[in-house]
Amino acid sequence: MDRATGWWPAGGSLDSPLSAAEKPRYVCQECASRGRQWVALRQCLTCGHVGCCDSSPGTHATAHHESSGHPVTRSAELGEDWAWCYADELYLQPRP
Ligand SMILES: [Zn+2]
Ligand SMILES: [Zn+2]
Repeated sequence: MDRATGWWPAGGSLDSPLSAAEKPRYVCQECASRGRQWVALRQCLTCGHVGCCDSSPGTHATAHHESSGHPVTRSAELGEDWAWCYADELYLQPRP
């Protein structure tokens, strides 16, 4: 697991910690541009890209991981505080 896999990466690339209270309403741009629906959204913790989950027809969050190599995505759904590390196949929780 590298330094980008935490919610508060020490010396990482995030300018500020991401918190559940600050979630705006996201859309999957790839789906929206095609007029498609999605089930739930995930946000890349490396660059902030938002894509739809693996239950959605587009699976754009995983597609983003595969094209970018960015290892960790979090739930962008209100009330959900977890992240998923593709590299380690682990669920992550925000540090208290
Ligand atoms: Zn999508
Ligand atoms: Zn990314």
